Formats: sequence, C-alpha cells, structure tokens
Amino acid sequence: MDTEEKMKICVIGGGSSGLAAIKCCLEEDLDVVCYEKSDYFGGLWKYHSDDADGKPSVMKSTVINTSKEMSAFSDFPPPEKFANFMHNSSMMEYFRLYAERFDLLKYIRYKHEVVHIEMAEDYERTGRWIVTVKNLNDNIEVSNIFDGVMVCVGHHVYPYIPKFEGLDVFGGTVTHTHSLKTAEGFEDKTVLVIGIGNSAVDAAVEISKVSKKLYLSTRRGSWIFPRLGPNGTPYDIILQKRIFETVRYYDPIHISETVLQFFLNFKFNHDRFGLRPPHRVLSAHFTINDALPNHILSGIVTVKQNVQKFTENGVIFENEDEATEIDAVVLATGYDIKFPFLPDGILQISETNVNLYKLVFPYQLQHPSLAFIGLTQPLGAMFPISEAQSRWFSQLMKRNVKLPPPADMKKEIQRRMDAKNKQFVPSLRHTVEVIWIPYMDEVCSEFGAKPNFWKMAFNDPRLFISCMFGPCTPYQYRLQGPHPWEGARNAILSTWERVEKAFKTFKRGQAT
Ligand SMILES: Cc1cc2nc3c(=O)[nH]c(=O)nc-3n(C[C@H](O)[C@H](O)[C@H](O)COP(=O)(O)OP(=O)(O)OC[C@H]3O[C@@H](n4cnc5c(N)ncnc54)[C@H](O)[C@@H]3O)c2cc1C
Repeated sequence: MDTEEKMKICVIGGGSSGLAAIKCCLEEDLDVVCYEKSDYFGGLWKYHSDDADGKPSVMKSTVINTSKEMSAFSDFPPPEKFANFMHNSSMMEYFRLYAERFDLLKYIRYKHEVVHIEMAEDYERTGRWIVTVKNLNDNIEVSNIFDGVMVCVGHHVYPYIPKFEGLDVFGGTVTHTHSLKTAEGFEDKTVLVIGIGNSAVDAAVEISKVSKKLYLSTRRGSWIFPRLGPNGTPYDIILQKRIFETVRYYDPIHISETVLQFFLNFKFNHDRFGLRPPHRVLSAHFTINDALPNHILSGIVTVKQNVQKFTENGVIFENEDEATEIDAVVLATGYDIKFPFLPDGILQISETNVNLYKLVFPYQLQHPSLAFIGLTQPLGAMFPISEAQSRWFSQLMKRNVKLPPPADMKKEIQRRMDAKNKQFVPSLRHTVEVIWIPYMDEVCSEFGAKPNFWKMAFNDPRLFISCMFGPCTPYQYRLQGPHPWEGARNAILSTWERVEKAFKTFKRGQAT
C-alpha cells in the first residue's frame, strides 16, 4: 500500500454501518467513497412501502428494541428529547443528525450498486481491490481500484424459507417478514405467523390488531424481555452492566441466568403461556416485546406448536390431528447471509461458523484490506459494534495496529466457534451471535479503546464506579484510544439524566 498518497477506501452500503464506516475513515484522513444502491441512506431503518428484492425495510410501526443510550454511536448521544426506545422515523432522524454533524452524506453515491469485487493484479504487494459498480441510473458499469473495502450491506436481505410439507398446496397467501410493511391486507383474516424472533412477534402483535384470529407457531419458544424494566426504566439500562457481565462470566452454574429467568417468569409465566424454551435465557437470541403477553392473555394471539404440515386451506400443528383453517401465513423464519458480489473462496459461512477473524476479517487473506462491518447478531445494539469494527479497520489501514498471523487467527476463529457453541443453542440464528460487552471489549482492545479500568479506579473513582455499576454505554469506548471524545466522561456520568429527560414530555401545574 502506498502510504504517501491518501489511501482510497470503498464503503459498500450507506446504512447505519456504512455511515459509521465513512466517519471512521474520515477520522484517519482516508479518502472514502460509499456506494449505495438505493436513493437514500439509513438502510433498513428507512421505511418504504414497496417490496423490492434485496431492499429490506422495517415495518411502518417498528420501534427499536435496544434503548437509545445503549444504541448510540460512541461520540454522539441521541437528542435528549427523543424517546428511550425510538420509532424508526426517530432512528432515521438520529442518523441524519449524525451524518450532518460529521458531514458524511457528501461521500455517498446513491443508486450505485457494487456488482463485483476482486483482488487487483498487484494485490499480493499492495492489498488493493478492484470494485465494479453499476450506476443504476444508466446501467453503466465502471471498475475502480481501492486500497481497502468495507462491506456494510447488512444481513437481513435474503429471506430464508424452510421447507414445510404442503406449503406448495396451501391456497392462502404466504408472506415473508422481509415483505411485511403494515397489517394491510390481513383485516378479518385468520393468520398464522411462524417464528418467535423479534420480527415474528412484532408481526404477530401488529397483525392481530386487525385480523379475525392470529396463531403464533413456535418450535422452541423464547424468553420474552419487556422493553419496560423495573420502574419503567429501559431493560438494557438495568441489565447491560459490567458488574452483571462479570458475574455471568464467573458463574459456572448459571445462577445469574436463573435469577433473570425468575424475573421474566414473574412478569408472566413462560410455561403457562406456551413460550418457555428448553434453553437458558442467554443461550439464544432473546425476543423483546411488551405487548405479546398481553395479547396472549386477551386471546388476541394464540400460541401453537411447530407446523406439522399445511393443507389446502389450513395447517396441522404438531401433536394435533385436526387441521386449523387459515387464510394467510407470515414466515418470520430469518435470512440467508449472502454477498453476491464477492468472489468464491473469500467467505465461508456455515450454520455454526463464519471464517472471519472476530467476525470482521477473512483470516486467510494476506492483507487486512477487506472488512465485513455489521456482520454480527448481538445481544445488545448493533450500531456501536459496526462503529467499533470500522475504527479497527481504519487503524489497520493506517498500520497503527496489526492483525496476528493467519494461523493464529484461524485458531482464534475455532476458539470463538467452540465458545459460541457452548453458549448458544445450535441454530442458523446464532451463526454470528455475540454478547455485547465482551465482544465490544474484544474488538476495542485491538486498537486500544477498551478503557483501562485499573488506572481509572485510581485516577477517577467516580467514573470507575459509573462504568462498572452503571449502564455500559458505548461512550466508554471513547475515553481512550484513537480519536477519544472529550465529552465521553460527561456522557457516561449523565446517562441517567438523559434517560429521565426523555420522559419529560409534560409540565406539572397546579390543578385548577
Ligand atoms: C426488523 C429489524 C429490526 C431490528 N432492530 C434492531 C434494534 O432494535 N437494535 C439494533 O441494534 N439492531 C436492530 N436490527 C439489526 C439491524 O441489522 C441493524 O440495526 C442495522 O440496520 C444494520 O445496519 P447495516 O448498515 O449493517 O445494514 P442495512 O441497514 O441493511 O443497510 C445496508 C445498506 O447496504 C445497501 N446495499 C446492499 N447491497 C449493496 C450493494 N451491492 N451495493 C451498494 N449498496 C448495497 C442497502 O441498500 C442498504 O442501504 C434490526 C434488524 C431488523 C431486520
């Protein structure tokens, strides 16, 4: 790589990961171009009503399920007045404010789709890539050479549809949640939603407001977290703390999970509601929804077991003999992870593993010039993770840090897979699953942004206590390392104030 000229970086995708990627390249004075195939930024958080292949979007009613302080980019807290759980339109507003603050939008070329990337002829020496991009305005393809490529295209793009016996003869409508935007079309129908992840439960709750009857079919069940924690505080502000993470880590008999399960069952008994999974609470990606137990209690949603088979106008559930009539099926069965523009041999994904060092870098490549940003499924918020990965990439490009030798990275991938398989139940959903605090610590340690708590304990005990016993917000990772943020300390100490301010939508006066 030529270090005298500015290095040129290609960011593929202008969603939230792409915005963070641009920002981190600019911090390191890298020359960045972002290709975005749609005509907007924000990726799947930009609601649109059209159902186009490869263009995911949230539903019109989607509200984020990680609270705003925990979902923030590490040097840009969301506005105080925004609700603690932001509606998708507020998320878009937050991204717009972030992009404006750091002047990111001028680097995005809209309606440009990356169709192919390959190693440049001089890759061995330089690590460069040839990126072929199609201008969707005139369909003309152009190839350019870049020193580095950041793949930020998301992984909720290609619907995964498992095989169900009889689905081909079923006469009703079949929709994947990828295409579900509103409950329109389901009025007065009998609807079956298959799945128990966040999309499934959001769909079930939304559709059940207008449908005649709604069945929710789940193979395994799930632990259901309410957004509303004790005292009305966002659940993740209470739970995502270093102290709890330390207890969980050193708790071989899982007492902490038993306690958590007790509280979740205290809210509603998962067994009684037909949702209790056979696994412990942190052994699978949990589901976050406040309305579901209420809808089950009111009979608006009826929980059913796995689908045995479909008939022409209905479905037979496991352990049942009679068919239940239904008019429509919604498949919330997840996504295939695919990158059609990649050459063969770069990325191998199986149900249990992906050959990426710390889920970012293909270990077998000679240079750290290709990074996958946001290819994780965290128990926690995604946006700060994409940002941390992007900071690491830009440090590597500037040669401020180095990756270990391929053999060591391969061992580390195996170690991660073994640890993951021990922690999580085997499932396609968990291929790229991570727990937020340990993963953020791991990535940020690579470039010196994990706080030095020993030093902090002596130099700034107040901050130390806040970092250990308070919510582990992303601002902790801007206290030190490259491009620290001078507002980080104050942002950490004032987290609770901003959580409170979001509630102050009214003024108390004297009753008249
Ligand atoms: C319904 C739903 C709810 C979610 N809720 C939460 C939540 O509450 N909290 C949370 O932290 N995470 C949540 N997530 C996870 C979500 O993936 C992340 O929040 C985030 O949107 C990922 O951003 P991204 O930029 O990586 O991908 P995306 O938002 O999918 O953006 C990818 C962008 O890349 C573009 N693109 C794709 N291919 C190409 C190409 N070849 N060339 C050019 N451009 C391309 C796309 O047009 C898109 O704009 C949710 C996901 C879903 C599906």
